Amino acid sequence: MADVYLIGAGPGDPGLLTIRARDILGLADVVVYDYLANRCLLSYARDEAEIVYVGKKGGQHTVPQEEINALVIDRARQGKTVARLKGGDPFVFGRGGEEAEEIVAAGLSYEVVPGVTAGVAAAAYAGIPVTHRAHTPSVAFITGHEDPAKQESAHDWEAYARSKSTLVFYMGVANLAMIADRLMAAGRPPDEPCALVRWGTTCRQRSFVSRLRDVAAEARARGYKAPSIIIVGGVCALKGSLDWFEKRPLLGKGVVVTRAREQASGLVEEFRSRGACVYEFPTIAVADLDSGPVEQAVLGLAEYDWLVFTSVNGVRRFWEVLWEVGLDARILAGLEIAAIGPATAEALIDRGLRPDFVPDKYVAEHVVQGLLDKGVANKKVLIPRALKAREVLPRELERAGARVTVLPVYETVLSGPDPAEVLEGLESGEIVYVTFTSSSTVENFFARIAPETMGRFGQARFACIGPVTAETLAGFGFKAHIQPAEYTVPALAEAVVRDATA
Ligand code: SAH
Repeated sequence: MADVYLIGAGPGDPGLLTIRARDILGLADVVVYDYLANRCLLSYARDEAEIVYVGKKGGQHTVPQEEINALVIDRARQGKTVARLKGGDPFVFGRGGEEAEEIVAAGLSYEVVPGVTAGVAAAAYAGIPVTHRAHTPSVAFITGHEDPAKQESAHDWEAYARSKSTLVFYMGVANLAMIADRLMAAGRPPDEPCALVRWGTTCRQRSFVSRLRDVAAEARARGYKAPSIIIVGGVCALKGSLDWFEKRPLLGKGVVVTRAREQASGLVEEFRSRGACVYEFPTIAVADLDSGPVEQAVLGLAEYDWLVFTSVNGVRRFWEVLWEVGLDARILAGLEIAAIGPATAEALIDRGLRPDFVPDKYVAEHVVQGLLDKGVANKKVLIPRALKAREVLPRELERAGARVTVLPVYETVLSGPDPAEVLEGLESGEIVYVTFTSSSTVENFFARIAPETMGRFGQARFACIGPVTAETLAGFGFKAHIQPAEYTVPALAEAVVRDATA
């Protein structure tokens, strides 16, 4: 192991982190990270790791470079493995070279893990290939940060003009007018295509293509600031036909996901892959109940005719206990199995169990009818489920003559996320959708953010997975603007997309 790893965090999209970077993050004792390194990458760090932020925050300045170096060296000397996580690539305008020199001078060992640099990635996500045989044989990465008052420029503007290279400027927005002027004075044509990409590869990406002569005025009018890259060259014109990322239907739109973190990944991914800025706000958490009664039920399974699962968590916990007592799928051989919805059915199939019954509609009333059609009336039914759940299913089955045992295997508990980030997203107008996948997510959401507060944000639209959830929402005085025809997570995401593109 090296003492210090200089790691490229990539340009923003967490999927562009390298596998090597993820592996090292998982080993490090200390992670020192920057403004431009996506915070969510910290989830790859160990729980015990010391995490130090050295970037800008709310207008404050970044931690001075000497302090960062001192911190990194101090921790490494204590024998700790340090991961120094920097936006993009550490050696491309990242001061990685300087940090490496300090580390070496301190007699410590280091390794560098290159990252995907913004100049290439933000351009690519804007539909601009930085080289293309029909347009340019070369590309130059240039700092746009040079002080314009400086007499002696380190740049050879004539060479940039002569080369016909694609020019990619980092840190250049504030100096954009000067950059464009110098390039035109040196001979780059005033009508040469030129593009800006801000917050490239993230859900907040924006970009536009202009001409060298107009670009500075246009950037100002559109309010472009750092972090943006500037691309100069004929390749910028390809955006018109090659654009892909910015076509995502929810790009830049904030979507709140209120599901328990354990269950949220499917929904989060549905929205993220469509471009949304996802705000995870897990208002509920799943807690397993004492396994004693579950063990009893599992050991007595032979008495039952039907096993009815109403949630993925019910399947997960029931199966866990079944294994813990040393049994396996064979114990279920004589039973008929029902799943209330497709995700629950999937959880059974994952465990090698094919449900005998999955209803067409995923609310209790339909399940009851379907089960009665299957002849459940005089049978013994076991329903492993949440402690607190709607009583319609057991009640109606009993009314029809079934002998029902409800077996609580887990409960949903109120979890206490800090609402600050969501409130900020509502305040700025970025959050457009708030999604609910169960009545308890609605109740718990309003336990954190009061209905009166929520009422102030007229732009917010509510999406509910089904009619029962929508009814709970109505109880708080809000209408469900969006409700899918099918009560599933992918259908909910699709319905939000339809609303956004309507
Ligand atoms: N080491 C980094 C660059 C750091 S310099 C890399 O390899 O990407 C900081 C500059 O990088 C910003 O001013 C901006 O010009 C550019 N930059 C970084 N991330 C960006 C992003 N997501 N979108 C657009 N530009 C970005």
